[in-house]
Amino acid sequence: MNASRGVGEFDLIERLAARLAPLESGLGIGDDAAAWSPEPGRLVVATTDMLVEGIHFRLDWTTARDLGWKALAVNLSDLAAMGARPGRALVSIALLPGQADLAEQLYDGIAELARITGARVVGGDTVRTPGPLVLNVALVGDADPDRLLRRGGAWPGDLLVVSGSVGASAAGLALLVAGDAAVLARPEAVPLLAAHHRPWPQLALGAALAGAGVRCAIDISDGVASEAWHLARASGMEIEVDVDRLPLSGEAVALLGPARARELALTGGEDYQLLFSVPEAMLAAVEAALPPDVRLSVIGRVTAAREGGAVRFLEAGVPIDIQEAGYVAF
Ligand code: ADP
Ligand code: MG
Repeated sequence: MNASRGVGEFDLIERLAARLAPLESGLGIGDDAAAWSPEPGRLVVATTDMLVEGIHFRLDWTTARDLGWKALAVNLSDLAAMGARPGRALVSIALLPGQADLAEQLYDGIAELARITGARVVGGDTVRTPGPLVLNVALVGDADPDRLLRRGGAWPGDLLVVSGSVGASAAGLALLVAGDAAVLARPEAVPLLAAHHRPWPQLALGAALAGAGVRCAIDISDGVASEAWHLARASGMEIEVDVDRLPLSGEAVALLGPARARELALTGGEDYQLLFSVPEAMLAAVEAALPPDVRLSVIGRVTAAREGGAVRFLEAGVPIDIQEAGYVAF
């Protein structure tokens, strides 16, 4: 999740992975979820995500119920990005003394989204901590073995496509950080805060993409720029992104201006939309299979195979440099 990313987090995961025995089969560290085949014709898909108070959330900014929803939603989003169906979840919480009521509200939020999506909580762990509050969800699901969406599935000529709009959640967080009560009371703030507190996992879209034959997807937890790089690296492809074509949140543009809204779409994160690549000839079939209310935007193209992968960001056809904290024109 974006708010937790230390500079060296991806390096550290690689160093940790190097200490483990190599996998003889299945999909391990490096995609949105792990996957393995317990028997021919079946594929189990598993993911986990942890939320830490003060890093991923503040209890004065979110309700406990919304926090429970979000903790499950971010895991469901990883399954959506694999084209998988949710199954059973384990929920672990580290609580401070006096947080029993809060834990019940967390579970109301978890239960609400679990009911909607068919996920079932079947266990977990409860411990005390001197602080901060920690909430971890581990989620297992299943997918069709020959229909898995992978970060490494992009191919030259594919279109790069994103669902919904991007930047809303990060804009909601930016409003909370700025703390201007008058802005927070504006009607445009409502969907931005909702996007931040109650992200909607794109399970129906992920299933539709997998069913239509799409091979390559990732969910947007860290911003379009970072996720495009993940696809490029995992696929060994060069990807071009036309930043003018990003489907920016209209409310983010209204409250923060177009430049900031675009920066938040590229580097903010927590949208939990899907970013995927699809052969141009398959796009019509994908559009026909879309769940209601999902719209797609073509934002770029996979241009060529390239060892190690690369992403080029274009503005009005001219390359721009996207930095961690925004972009700078050459
Ligand atoms: P996402 O943003 O999709 O949740 P992450 O960036 O958190 O994915 O993780 C990237 C990959 O690294 C995933 O495959 C995840 O399972 C793996 N990973 C992250 N942390 C660890 C860890 N401590 N040990 C093993 N694998 C890890
Ligand atoms: Mg993910």
